[in-house]
Amino acid sequence: MKPKNRFQKQVMELSKQLPSITSKQEQWARRYCFDHIAKKNSKGVFTCLECGHKWTDKSYTANIVVCPCCKTKLEIKRTRQRVFKQSEYFCIVTTFKGYQVLRFFYLNVYKKESQQAHFFCREVVQRWINPQGKYETLALLRPMNYFQDKWIFNSDLEIRPERALYDIMPTKIYPYYRILPEIKRNGFKGVYHDNTPFQLFHSILTNNRIETLLKAGQYGLLRYFIRTNCTTLDHYWASIRICIRNHYTIKDGSMWCDYVNMLTILGKDTNSPKYVCPIDLKAEHNRRHTEILKQREKEEQEQKKRKAMEQEQRFIGMKAKFFGIAFTDGTINIRVLESVQEYLEEGNVLHHCVFANEYHLKPNSLILSATISGKRLETIEVSLETMKVIQCRGLCNRNTEYHDRIINLVHRNMKQIRQRMVV
Ligand SMILES: [Zn+2]
Repeated sequence: MKPKNRFQKQVMELSKQLPSITSKQEQWARRYCFDHIAKKNSKGVFTCLECGHKWTDKSYTANIVVCPCCKTKLEIKRTRQRVFKQSEYFCIVTTFKGYQVLRFFYLNVYKKESQQAHFFCREVVQRWINPQGKYETLALLRPMNYFQDKWIFNSDLEIRPERALYDIMPTKIYPYYRILPEIKRNGFKGVYHDNTPFQLFHSILTNNRIETLLKAGQYGLLRYFIRTNCTTLDHYWASIRICIRNHYTIKDGSMWCDYVNMLTILGKDTNSPKYVCPIDLKAEHNRRHTEILKQREKEEQEQKKRKAMEQEQRFIGMKAKFFGIAFTDGTINIRVLESVQEYLEEGNVLHHCVFANEYHLKPNSLILSATISGKRLETIEVSLETMKVIQCRGLCNRNTEYHDRIINLVHRNMKQIRQRMVV
């Protein structure tokens, strides 16, 4: 893409003046970004995959060995694999003419037994950030489709429209770096705290609350808000300030925010250190979660009760003529449920859907409850069309040992129900 505005033109121009990666930097990257392997076979023959040198040492048992030829420290692998490939990203952090520049290099190594390792290094992304946090990205072309998702190495570093894949988390950052004074002033001391270099620099230059989190050592929150694009940072800010003032460090940002949300739901004061600075965050988080579940359940029950009261008149109009029907075989007592409230209780005790599915408003069905000494056994639905038991269910829709006796008892007393229908 051709540079369009002045900013882009300037970045493009300055980019051409950047020095190439030095051989010292490349050597460092090669040394620290990759695994270094020695293959060992069953006969005790070692092969250095860096230089191809072979030697025998049957007595050696440790996991690390130094190649006698190229002096590289090698990790020993007992494998039959012949070819090893590895790709990584290496980052050089530098400044250039008033810009913070992040240079990302794609590194690839191809190692084959008995061969010198083949090493490839190419700069693929440059990010230029000015002291106000304004930035541009230069990158190689990287078409993304089903068949191809890699850098086109014969394309040029050009201004490209923003894409998430330019925000690279490098395997290693070159330890000799240069930083804009504004970034140092805003709290950067050489540690990235698991953020990508771009995200960290850009955030502390553009958001003074992120800057405060960094300076206060609140790295857990810093990470969480950077990753979520700071969308909710302002919402939590008052509580965060309480934590900072009380020297309370938050390790798990997402859990803490979740916890503060629950405090709000439960009507607790989120400006009180007593609540927002718990000694054991995980335990408090779980405790509040249980509390909320209980509260929700209570609210649900209350809602059901309100609904039951609203439907009571309709129910009475439909079913009052059956009220009072009751019979027993001496042990089992069966009676018609006489209020919507009773349906609700029956459903709650036996954990089934007699209330939820509004059986009380079904015109052609009648619900009876079977008990022994007041304890609920099963709920019976009788069809007012066929005068038969449609279903009969106990706790969690299971049958009790009295199931068949209950059905027989209802059928023997069906006359009582039929008589009321005539009225
Ligand atoms: Zn070697």
